[in-house]
Amino acid sequence: MDVRDKTIVVTGAGRGIGRALAVQLAREGAQLALFDTHAEDLQQTRGACGPATVRSYRCDVAQEASVTATFEQVVADFGRLDGLVNNAGIVRDALLIKVKDGRVTERMSLAQWQAVIDVNLTGVFLCGREAAAHMAALGHGGVIVNISSISRAGNIGQSNYTAAKAGVAALTVVWAKELARHRIRVGAVAPGFIRTPMVESMKPEALAKMMAPIPLGRLGEPQEIAHAVSFIFANELFTGRCLEVDAGLRM
Ligand code: NDP
Repeated sequence: MDVRDKTIVVTGAGRGIGRALAVQLAREGAQLALFDTHAEDLQQTRGACGPATVRSYRCDVAQEASVTATFEQVVADFGRLDGLVNNAGIVRDALLIKVKDGRVTERMSLAQWQAVIDVNLTGVFLCGREAAAHMAALGHGGVIVNISSISRAGNIGQSNYTAAKAGVAALTVVWAKELARHRIRVGAVAPGFIRTPMVESMKPEALAKMMAPIPLGRLGEPQEIAHAVSFIFANELFTGRCLEVDAGLRM
């Protein structure tokens, strides 16, 4: 897809990878509908997008009513919908159980599990469903890109996040098969560790430990993920696959 003058939704666009995605797609000439829960963060992303046509929407991707109403508003505002990047995500890391001196001292709580499933998996489902419904009704085809993670292979301390990100990769395959008849392509990107507020909030010792096994020896930059998303939009043969952009790291 040539993204010039196309309308693309980016979720979680307030900072981090989402902001880099918005800047990249704006530079390529897309019109953007940016979703996030924080209006001030969205303002900053809008500012970074330069003269492109950009509208921001406060939308919690985990809330069905919020997602449905916001997609309707986007189509009413722009008159079209051509793309979606399902990027919003959170972490609530914890071991499944913690044991000290033979006694179980901690468990991952249901709240930690549910919060991540709600945003990272249900949010992707809701936004993907609404985007697909509008694209199919409008009849011009489209592209959906889901942001998974290297953690989908199974990362210690991330039962919730791993389950969600593996689910996102699986949804990508299902949707590619189901939506091809509507000329909608669906791809995914699985980033490794990327320099964003999510990663920079880690303790320095934890960050150093995490970086030690990375073959390229560095964090990725948000723009490098935006570049991969841009490739999926551009390449008309790409669907049902997940691009790994992870500096060679294997979980
Ligand atoms: P950040 O935490 O920096 O940014 C995430 C954005 O998503 C924030 O603006 C956040 O807003 C928003 N968001 C969170 N919950 C919701 C919600 N319910 N509805 C709408 N927006 C929401 O994360 P990253 O940029 O690092 O991550 C972006 C994506 O990339 C995520 O899916 C993440 O899992 C994935 N990823 C990141 C990696 C990394 O190393 N950084 C590695 C692999 C994958 P708020 O202020 O409300 O929290």
